[in-house]
Amino acid sequence: MPIDATQPYDDNNIFARILRGELPSKTVYDDDYALAFHDINPQAPLHLLVIPKGAYVSWDDFSARASDAEIAGFVRAVGQVARDTGLVVPGYRLLANIGPDSHQEVPHLHVHIFAGQKLGPMLAR
Ligand code: 5GP
Repeated sequence: MPIDATQPYDDNNIFARILRGELPSKTVYDDDYALAFHDINPQAPLHLLVIPKGAYVSWDDFSARASDAEIAGFVRAVGQVARDTGLVVPGYRLLANIGPDSHQEVPHLHVHIFAGQKLGPMLAR
């Protein structure tokens, strides 16, 4: 079910549980500000998720409340993950869903990284 991006942070959402080590993930990157792991249901040959370590529901919440250090750390981590996985030359797509119209399902900010093939038009028409 799509979530309301203005809802309070739910400490028991799936990504909070992954951050606490209560659920497994195929981690590809971990630092003070971000964790990156493979999406459980990949929609491209490579489909990663990058999440901030802090408790933020969405990009809206994060951009309004996160510290400058958290924002810089998270944005740099997204770029680092793409570099580490060799995506800069072939190219990749970033996507973040925010709220019901976007069909955001997990109420912890996540940036999708899609890669590994020609990704086609940005949105289904
Ligand atoms: P959203 O629609 O919220 O932007 O994307 C949520 C993403 O989280 C989906 O692509 C979904 O496959 C992924 N996902 C949901 N549950 C899990 C999980 O337990 N582990 C991992 N690795 N990905 C998950």
